[in-house]
Amino acid sequence: LLLAYDPVRRLSRTQVNIERSLVNARMIYEVLDLEPQQRDAADAVALEVREGDVSFEDVHFSYSAESPILNGVSFKAKAGRTTAIVGPSGAGKSTLFALLQRFYDVDRGSILIDGQDVAGVTKHSLRSQIAYVSQHPYLFEGTIRDNIRYGRVDASDAEIEDAARLANAEEFILAQEGGYDTLVGENGANLSGGQRQRISIARAIVRNAPILLLDEATSALDNESEAKVQEALERVMQGRTTLVIAHRLSTVVNADHIVVLEEGRLVEEGTHGNLVAQENGVYARFHRMQRQRGENLLDNKTPED
Ligand code: ADP
Ligand code: MG
Repeated sequence: LLLAYDPVRRLSRTQVNIERSLVNARMIYEVLDLEPQQRDAADAVALEVREGDVSFEDVHFSYSAESPILNGVSFKAKAGRTTAIVGPSGAGKSTLFALLQRFYDVDRGSILIDGQDVAGVTKHSLRSQIAYVSQHPYLFEGTIRDNIRYGRVDASDAEIEDAARLANAEEFILAQEGGYDTLVGENGANLSGGQRQRISIARAIVRNAPILLLDEATSALDNESEAKVQEALERVMQGRTTLVIAHRLSTVVNADHIVVLEEGRLVEEGTHGNLVAQENGVYARFHRMQRQRGENLLDNKTPED
């Protein structure tokens, strides 16, 4: 009787199905730590996050020997602040997130969290300190409740419901006949884009990690969804070190710091004000283009980047 609901066992069953059905391992890591621990170095230690400063130092990386993707990228994302990463499609923005979470290891240089090189810490401790909201949130076949719980398997129902509320998701969840126990269908087929995103934000909230990575959606949401997603994100960003791959001008304008990436190099950094003032700069050019088109996306020529 008491074993009727065992989230951990249900998750591990789901895990097997995911492993069978997904080709892109990164989708799995968005929410679960499935990689075998033996991949950690024998002397790997647990990451200890105190402030939550993140720093990229001369990072070089390529997926294959022929084509370098990052060519010596250095910048700091200050604890508790928001750093926006902007740049054209293919510049290497998402790759920075993959390296920070150690889906891949850097070829040269280092990535430090509060001075600890991510290369020397256990992947489990690293990923438990990071919440990642991807551009295309992955939902599993299962209930809304389980989909939020993937953020942290031991989250209580009350914590899940609090997170849903903060993520502006509760209203639409309760409007479903099954409430939190509604099945979302394969990859959230029964939900709108904005609803899927809010579930993914709720998932990040239950994870309660000091470092938040947001790969902002490029596709347009309806206005109401957009406003609710934005509001939810602002809540989850509070007090966390946030790195956001930003496409929306409003996100960039409000960031504490902006880094501009082009062809794997950091070409400019600063605040919105001082980047716009560099009239021949890449950022100022983006910004002018966006204003001419009267659109709210900085770089929407490639919506699926
Ligand atoms: P951005 O997020 O700025 O659009 P990405 O970091 O996704 O750029 O990609 C940078 C470059 O790396 C692109 O040329 C892309 O095709 C390539 N790339 C991204 N992921 C992989 C991968 N898993 N394997 C090989 N090449 C990849
Ligand atoms: Mg990307």
